[in-house]
Amino acid sequence: MIPVEEALDLVLKNSYSLKETETLPLEECLGKCLANSIQAPIDLPTFKQSSMDGYALCLHDSNRYLIKGEIKAGESSNPFLEPGECVRIFTGAVVPDSANAVIMQEQTNHKNKVLTIEIPVKNGQNIRPIGSQVQKGDFPLEKGQVLQASGLAFLQSLGIHEVEVIRSPRVTLILTGNELIKPTETFTRGKIYESNSILLRSALQQQGIETQLISFTEDNLKATIHTLEKAFLKADVVLVSGGISVGDYDFVKQALEALDVKQIFYKVRQRPGKPLFFGKKGAKLVFALPGNPASTLSCFYVYVLPLLARMKGSRSDGLMRVSIPIEHDFSSKEPRALFLKASFNNKTVSILDHQHSSMLISFAKANALVYIPEQGIDIKKGAIVETLLLPNTIFT
Ligand code: AMP
Ligand code: MG
Repeated sequence: MIPVEEALDLVLKNSYSLKETETLPLEECLGKCLANSIQAPIDLPTFKQSSMDGYALCLHDSNRYLIKGEIKAGESSNPFLEPGECVRIFTGAVVPDSANAVIMQEQTNHKNKVLTIEIPVKNGQNIRPIGSQVQKGDFPLEKGQVLQASGLAFLQSLGIHEVEVIRSPRVTLILTGNELIKPTETFTRGKIYESNSILLRSALQQQGIETQLISFTEDNLKATIHTLEKAFLKADVVLVSGGISVGDYDFVKQALEALDVKQIFYKVRQRPGKPLFFGKKGAKLVFALPGNPASTLSCFYVYVLPLLARMKGSRSDGLMRVSIPIEHDFSSKEPRALFLKASFNNKTVSILDHQHSSMLISFAKANALVYIPEQGIDIKKGAIVETLLLPNTIFT
């Protein structure tokens, strides 16, 4: 059994970035990493742009201007203004070359064709200069950047519609357990509606990774070996759920050995998720995750995610970690390290009820995991605790 830090270290040491790239439309790039730095093909903005609804002025010494017309967003006109002349203008519209400031309409009065300004105007105000966000030829996004909604939108605003990304790792899932049934099957005594398939599939989807294959296997050695063999054929990473503990009907470890998978570690001094296995077969990596749903997901977030991030070409070490005050006293005599489902509100963090590894109820409401190092603790409200933010938790 090894400590959490050593296990994480071994995951990162055995991680590598996939080399193959693919050129995809932006719509298919959410969560993927850029294979190359992106060079801006245009200036952004590409023209002098008004940032207000108001009047574009050719400045002069008086506060009165003659209104010469109007320019709406999307129009291309470029009227020539003499000092003391102006045009009505709207947000996003082209500011004429001869105008040198825009004044908000709320700061003006007009009567017939004459505009009166109530406050001093600065040269250049309310005009977004050409290239003020990005200049043509610049490299605004670097190789390895993970593309989120904002990154994709930024690229599209540069007129880019496809990019070269590092291909996503191919991940296969195996669910073990004689007790598992699907929600469409009739419930009978002793069975459970299994949940780890949608759990892992959705957690992968959140990382922009579509699962290649989902297989179910009975708790016997032959079937487990057979299912694993098939999963390895299609995968860079195989994730197995359940069957990795020490029960008489846990066959995953034996099956992995039979298939010459090299063990990197087995069992981590943590709760939940002690019987976690990590190994490799050539370049292919395999995690056998303990079947209790909260253990499965905890191990996924803490160990699988950093591996997948590196394979996708990101330099990320996984979930963002912040040091934050705890909202209440907390004590534990558990000698293993703890990952506790928690609710984080940007200033403090609270540990939720229902922490048992068989329970998903707290995970369903959590947006963070509090990490308590080994040896048990007695901490008081306000003490700083290390907190891992779950995907999509915003920290400002
Ligand atoms: P195991 O790791 O196979 O010993 O399973 C530990 C616990 O997790 C048992 O109570 C299993 O019934 C449960 N479990 C295993 N696989 C799943 C699954 N796919 N969905 C929900 N619970 C599961
Ligand atoms: Mg089992």
